Amino acid sequence: MGIKKVWVEEDCTSCGVCESLCPEVFEITDISHAKEGVNYTDYESEIREAADSCPVEVIKFDED
Ligand code: SF4
Repeated sequence: MGIKKVWVEEDCTSCGVCESLCPEVFEITDISHAKEGVNYTDYESEIREAADSCPVEVIKFDED
């Protein structure tokens, strides 16, 4: 079990919540995106918190 893929769908408002909760995974350029090359399983609780905290619910992840 673990998070293998993280992505941000359209309609991100660049509010900054995800990046402040987990800058190791989320980075805002024009909109937020999940960084490549990160071992997401190291940050599962932070990713879940960011997804729950996103005001427009556009943070998605796949786990196995
Ligand atoms: S919390 Fe959601 S809306 Fe805010 S920057 Fe992150 S993905 Fe975008």
